[in-house]
Amino acid sequence: MPDTTTDAAKQPAKQSSHKAKAYSAASASSRLAPAAIPRRDPTERDVQIEILFCGVCHSDIHQVRDEWHAFMPTVYPCVPGHEIVGRVTKIGSGVTTFKPGDLAAVGCLVDSDRTCRHCEDALEQFCPNAVLTYNGPDKHLGGVTYGGYSDSIVVDEHFVLSVPSNLDPAGAAPLLCAGITTYSPLMHWGVTKGKKVGVVGLGGLGHMAVKIAHAMGAHVVVFTTSPNKKEDAIRLGADEVVVSRNPDEMQKHAGSFDFILDAVAADHDVGAYLNMLARDGNMTLVGAPEKPFAVSAFGLIGGRHSLSGSMIGGIKETQEMLDFCGRHDITADVEVIPIQKINEAYERMLKSDVKYRFAIDMASLKSE
Ligand code: NAP
Ligand code: ZN
Repeated sequence: MPDTTTDAAKQPAKQSSHKAKAYSAASASSRLAPAAIPRRDPTERDVQIEILFCGVCHSDIHQVRDEWHAFMPTVYPCVPGHEIVGRVTKIGSGVTTFKPGDLAAVGCLVDSDRTCRHCEDALEQFCPNAVLTYNGPDKHLGGVTYGGYSDSIVVDEHFVLSVPSNLDPAGAAPLLCAGITTYSPLMHWGVTKGKKVGVVGLGGLGHMAVKIAHAMGAHVVVFTTSPNKKEDAIRLGADEVVVSRNPDEMQKHAGSFDFILDAVAADHDVGAYLNMLARDGNMTLVGAPEKPFAVSAFGLIGGRHSLSGSMIGGIKETQEMLDFCGRHDITADVEVIPIQKINEAYERMLKSDVKYRFAIDMASLKSE
């Protein structure tokens, strides 16, 4: 039998730990169920957090079901969750920026090597040794990291964020992934007042993109497959809404966008949106469907269009995004659920039936 355990999983436990309550998946076809997981006791640089809310990202579904097997195979048991807001309960002796009682947040990253050129540029998400909040190699305890569907987490201070005090903690949780994943490319591609911005897919990421691009002063057009989301899109900050299954509505916007953000979680026609770009316009993919898609060269060469991708954001930019959202009073529209409803929530997300992010109230774990 070949040995399929990861290098990290072979490492012996190096450090003292305690148990935490969590929900985990035992395999790609399992439902999430209660579990006890180890968390390290805080080291000098660590912050221990009691998790209050954790957002439910579509990436959680992709990973729990091992849909990204070709790029990052899922190691089971898998405890997802990377949109974490909680209360600091304990700090290591060397921690300077947090104290017990503070509201704190953790996003998709919990470590990196801090020496590579990406870390030096504050772009830890591209560090070859970045450690994701779940399903990443756990340097402390061996095995893989466990995410935020849990009552607590222990994270190095550098990867812990501050939440502006005016923001509702449940609504702030999704900022840690959906917020930064949309803020970062909007900033990178120079979205400012007066630019025409398209947002494809009004889900968790899409609705954050609408709120943030609107706050940046852009003219925002939402492309949705769900006609029943039209009114919401306007309320969230869109100037116009296009039902993407209607060719006449689509045709009206041909050749007109400075920037389009594609946040769709499933297979769809990317080429239809490339034709919407103005000369030198850019379309950035943040959605990460399982299967590759076809792109015609003519969708790019005609107008010197570009197609690019973007992945979450660095820690510095994540704090900048949280502060931006604090100033503009932006949080996600959340449907708060108990953890016991998580499997049902996944099924609803797959039907685009969420307005617009589930946030798990972790107090519900106490009864497990
Ligand atoms: P979500 O809440 O499920 O939203 C996805 C939206 O896509 C749906 O609400 C729906 O919007 C649209 N959609 C779904 N199926 C579609 C189809 N067959 N054709 C066209 N549109 C469809 O998901 P999310 O949490 O926002 O995540 C979106 C994607 O981004 C996922 O693939 C996720 O893994 C990825 N992601 C990437 C990063 C990154 O760093 N790049 C970070 C987080 C998440 P309408 O109803 O409006 O059509
Ligand atoms: Zn996410």
